[in-house]
Amino acid sequence: MIKTDILIIGAGPVGLFTVFEAGLMKLKCHLIDAISKAGGQLTEIYPKKPIYDIPGFPKILAGDLVDRLMEQSAPFKPGFTLGERAESIKKQNDGSFIVTTNEGTRHKAPVIIIAGGLGSFEPRKPKILNIEVFEKKGVEYMVKDPNIFIDKKVFISGGGDSALDWCIYFAEKNKKKVGLVHRSESFRAHKDSVEKIYHLHEEGKIELYTNAEVIKLNGINGLDSIEIRTNNNENKIIKVDTWFPLFGLSPKLGPIADWGLEIEKNAIKVDNTIDYQTNIPGIFAVGDVNTYLGKLKLILCGFHEATLAVQSAYKIINPDKRYTLKYTTVQGIQGFD
Ligand SMILES: Cc1cc2nc3c(=O)[nH]c(=O)nc-3n(C[C@H](O)[C@H](O)[C@H](O)COP(=O)(O)OP(=O)(O)OC[C@H]3O[C@@H](n4cnc5c(N)ncnc54)[C@H](O)[C@@H]3O)c2cc1C
Repeated sequence: MIKTDILIIGAGPVGLFTVFEAGLMKLKCHLIDAISKAGGQLTEIYPKKPIYDIPGFPKILAGDLVDRLMEQSAPFKPGFTLGERAESIKKQNDGSFIVTTNEGTRHKAPVIIIAGGLGSFEPRKPKILNIEVFEKKGVEYMVKDPNIFIDKKVFISGGGDSALDWCIYFAEKNKKKVGLVHRSESFRAHKDSVEKIYHLHEEGKIELYTNAEVIKLNGINGLDSIEIRTNNNENKIIKVDTWFPLFGLSPKLGPIADWGLEIEKNAIKVDNTIDYQTNIPGIFAVGDVNTYLGKLKLILCGFHEATLAVQSAYKIINPDKRYTLKYTTVQGIQGFD
């Protein structure tokens, strides 16, 4: 059981900034995210896009903003449960909550801050017969720990940044050739990555199939081979250890919608007059996941909401103590040892 002061669901920009604000009040945070990397939409949808409305940064790439937020929260040593979706919540007699993920990891905290954005990012699964039988037995929808796949026979499907980035990664690290299968001849990924793929293909490090797709999976106790329909309409069976269909992720509010929270327009209703608390005391919702009159889905607004939410979190966690706001310019940042 992971125990913390504040359990944050969602490691997007707002969840990450919550760690910093909570840390200033000596509150320890742990974050859960359904995807294997921090950064939410900024990492998943637009890492290379510049953002122009973050105070103090006339222009910053989304991916760089995530790096800065990670750096800013690091002194407060947050814990992470990545690649797992917060599935259920149970209130305890002492007022705290236990949140369990889809992988069964349990977390206990007196305060929950939901920073779930548009919802948990779920993989878009290809329509292949019996694919679920092979899930986690050779079929993986995300690369949680690349080291596990080093020197395995890896095939990847997809034409976006994630598919190409991982293909390049494995082609450079693995002794065995990496396979890339894409339905079209044109890729949606960055030009540099596409050029690199063709370059690695020419060097013999990538087996490339365009205008092709994986149509069948074979194996008895797990994946043994994939069957590809190639560009000249032939079927080819290839032995593999792991196949990653990386067709992107789509957000779903998912299990949070069944937690008894008041939901409006697919978002969680909060009290914006005080602290962005939900209808369940002790559970707050900040960032894109919440709604109230005048709500704006902007990173900046989420930062403000998180700052106010942790003030109330402090009072719940320390009912007998008073907290006086001190400027960091006077105190500096005192992280956790
Ligand atoms: C193309 C594009 C451009 C944009 N440009 C700007 C801009 O220039 N300026 C600006 O201010 N905003 C911009 N936005 C909006 C901005 O990205 C969002 O306001 C911001 O990402 C919200 O942050 P968040 O932390 O609330 O949520 P998110 O970034 O959505 O992160 C939420 C995280 O929660 C996780 N999660 C959700 N439910 C669960 C669960 N049950 N279990 C585990 N994890 C869960 C998700 O996997 C996700 O990683 C843009 C958005 C898009 C799509």
